[in-house]
Order: sequence, then structure tokens, then C-alpha cells
Amino acid sequence: MHAIKYKLKKDDPVVVTTGKDKGKKSKVLKVEKKTGKLFLEDINVVKRHTKPNPMDPDGGIHEKEMPIDISNAQYYCKSCDKGVRLGVKVLESGQKQRYCKSCGEIVDKD
Ligand SMILES: [Zn+2]
Repeated sequence: MHAIKYKLKKDDPVVVTTGKDKGKKSKVLKVEKKTGKLFLEDINVVKRHTKPNPMDPDGGIHEKEMPIDISNAQYYCKSCDKGVRLGVKVLESGQKQRYCKSCGEIVDKD
């Protein structure tokens, strides 16, 4: 059995806890376990100006999400209406279940 280092998963609701997007709610698009980064929907978006090229004949401004550090976001618990820490408990079946440490609500449905 290996330890769960990152408790956030793809599609989890999160709230950003620090930086320019502090307090914003979002959704996990991708967890990069190697680097400990998170890609969040509409968070840390940078605009890139591109010159016209074969892929994009007109060029223009493209928006792209840049990853943030995994420690800068927390799971957003609906019951608590805030960012919370998640706990993990192991069921008798060996399955791991994540829960909100503030209100105890199970966040994994399956
Ligand atoms: Zn909660």
C-alpha cells in the first residue's frame, strides 16, 4: 500500500487559497504528480500573443491555463462552503475514501 501524497483528483471542486486568484472557485483539470502542480479551470490564465502561422493563419491572443502549486488550492466543500482539508480513510474492503475534515462528509461517491 502506498501513501496518498496528493488528495486532489481531476474534476474536484477547489478554492484557490493564495496568489492573485485567491478565493476563486474552480475545478481541477489535471494533477501533475511529478511536479506537484495543479491545472485549474480559468485560474492563472495567461494571454499569449501569437503571430500568424500555418496552424493559426490570423494569429492573435490565446489564453492558456498555467499550473499552480498544489499547496495553493484546497478542496471546496459544499456543506462547509469553504476550502477544507481532506482526510482519507480505508474501508474494510481496502478502498480508500476521502472525506472533509471539517464536516466529515464523504467526497468520493463511488
Ligand atoms: Zn465539509
